[in-house]
Order: sequence, then C-alpha cells, then structure tokens
Amino acid sequence: MTLTSHTTNTPEMAPACITLDGSQGEGGGQILRSALALSLITGRAFRIHRIRAGRSKPGLMRQHLACVEAAVRIGSATAEGAALGSQELTFTPGPLVTGTHEFRIANSGSTMLLLQSILPALLLARQPSDLVLEGGTHNPFAPPFPFIEQAFLPLLRRIGFDVTATLDRPGFHPNGGGRCRVSIRPAGDLKPLRLGDMRTPGAPPAAWARICLAGLPRQVAQREAETLRRRIALDPEQCMINEHAEALGPGNTVHVFTAGDGFANVFTGFGSPRVRAEQVAGDALASAEAFIASGASVDEHLADQLLLPLAIGRGGSFTTTAPSNHTRTQSLILQEFLTITVTTEPIAPTVWRVQVGT
Ligand code: AMP
Repeated sequence: MTLTSHTTNTPEMAPACITLDGSQGEGGGQILRSALALSLITGRAFRIHRIRAGRSKPGLMRQHLACVEAAVRIGSATAEGAALGSQELTFTPGPLVTGTHEFRIANSGSTMLLLQSILPALLLARQPSDLVLEGGTHNPFAPPFPFIEQAFLPLLRRIGFDVTATLDRPGFHPNGGGRCRVSIRPAGDLKPLRLGDMRTPGAPPAAWARICLAGLPRQVAQREAETLRRRIALDPEQCMINEHAEALGPGNTVHVFTAGDGFANVFTGFGSPRVRAEQVAGDALASAEAFIASGASVDEHLADQLLLPLAIGRGGSFTTTAPSNHTRTQSLILQEFLTITVTTEPIAPTVWRVQVGT
C-alpha cells in the first residue's frame, strides 16, 4: 500500500467518518493520539466517544487538548468537543500545513506524546517541517526525550524517514518548561524494518547509562551511579551524569541503554520527591534486566510506538516481550484507518514476534 499525506479532501471524495470507542483496550490518551495521527495522514474524519471513560478523571485533560490543538493546526482541521473533560470529539482534517511550528504545553504535559499525534503526517509530507516543542520532556508514563532520541528516531531513519531531534533543555514534572526541536525532511525510499530474532542466549548486549539532574544535589546522581555500577559493569565514561542548570525546575531521571541493532533500548527510572535515589536507579535497572533476560529485540514501549511508523512505511517485523495493552490497542486503531495486518505470535516463553503487513 502506498500512503502519502493527503493534500486535498473534497467533500464528495471524503470517506465516511470513523467512529471509535475511546474506552476500548488500553482506554487512555493513546487511542486519541493515534486517531489524530492517522486522520491527518488519511484525510479521514473521526468521531471518538467515551474518551478515557474508565479513568478517575474521564474525558480530555489539558495534555490531550494540547495534542488536539496541535493536530488542528498541522491539519487545518476542525475539532468539535475539544474542551476540558469532554468525552466526545469529532475531528475533521483539511490540508496539511508543513513548515515551522511552535507548540507550548502550559503545564508539564509531555511534548513527546504531543509529537506522537503530529509527527507521522509530517514524516510523509513532501515539504520539510521544523518543530519547537515546549513543556515536559522527561515525564513519567510517557517516552522521555532520550528514548525518542536513541530508540525511536534511529529506527524511523532506518525505515527511510528523515527526522532528527535535539534537546535545548529538559522539562520535568511538575514545572515543565523543557524545549526540544524536531526537524523533518521529505522521506527517501521507504524499506521494511526487520529487527532480528532472539539474540544468542548468554550474550548480554552492551549497556551504558545517563543520569539527568536539575536543581538537586549532585550526590543524588552519584548515589544513582553507584547503584548502577554495583549491578552492571559500567566504566565511568559509560555512566554519564548530565547536570542541567538550564532547566526551569528540579528533576531527575536515570536512563539505562542496551545496544540494539543500530539503536538502543532505553529504560528509565523517574525521580520524585518521595522516592530514594537508589530506587530510581533500581527501577531503570530492573526494567533493563528483565528485558535483557527476555531475548527480545525491542521493549514493550518501543513495540507499541513502532507499529504506526511500520504501518505507514513498508511494514516489517520485530520481536518483543509479551504484547502490552498499548500494543494491542494500537493494532486495533491502525486497522480502523488503514488496510494493514498486524499479527502477534509467541515464539519463545518470553518472546513474541510482531509483524505488520502493508
Ligand atoms: P498513554 O498511557 O495512553 O498516555 O500512552 C503512553 C505512551 O507512552 C505509550 O506509547 C507508552 O509506550 C509510552 N511510555 C510510557 N512509559 C514509557 C517509558 N518509560 N519509556 C518509553 N515510553 C513510555
């Protein structure tokens, strides 16, 4: 299937509006963000109801509205029901607007999640775009910037998309105020992405770590580094401490990277006022160790995030750990908008193969 971002969307050609139940599957913001991304790509309008219906604060929250507003701007779209707490939204896209855009999320809402809503359409555009995103860049429950930089974007480039990102300053919860830039150029020839099967058992991948610290005593990062070095062999230069005097508020994250084939899997521990430094480092390590023991090629977060780029590219396959609720939900949404197949099969006790056919 060949997909390009639509540029015209005349009423007589407009395909029927897609109706989505926002509470299905994972039932959170992901359904909305993916629907926005896919609507911008296909030119198909959608109506989503029961948005986050099962959550303690149902409906659109500020960070979701930021995604809708960004998609409205990128897609010359109309959005009915775009209000705080709204459980229903109808989104109708128009022509794509490439070029320079700045999006600022007033609180510490995740800029990386906002990017999920608008990046896919821009990747397929025939004109370049430059984005400046302000808000949170290292948020819990979202891909932190190092994950996008080291895991997600290198794999997009392997597919043939031309996209890079740089961090001006990190933004942590609750102050936010981070800033990053994303540069997108027209894609080259797209190729299927095939990420190897299980690694040779007993051969752990190379690992390294980065500790981000802002507005907190350096000894927090030093205790985290010691915790890491007690459990994995790391030379000092493989365990960097980045102190961010430029950040607008305090924050701390620990990132453990494991080498993949031309990219890294990234496992993050998020600091917070009541969590000890040893615990923050331990969280990142525990996820990395479980992943290394599995023998899979990509971790559960990268798995759900890779499905869309594969679906709008030339498909492909990868291995991962047990498919998460996010991965299963993402497969459903993709198949609502695109004629693709997503299959998931266990191939070893801790490894699943995911294939996307286009
Ligand atoms: P939602 O829960 O619907 O807002 O979606 C959260 C998104 O953030 C999903 O794509 C997750 O894979 C991703 N995510 C959550 N935590 C992490 C993490 N620690 N590293 C990378 N991605 C993450």
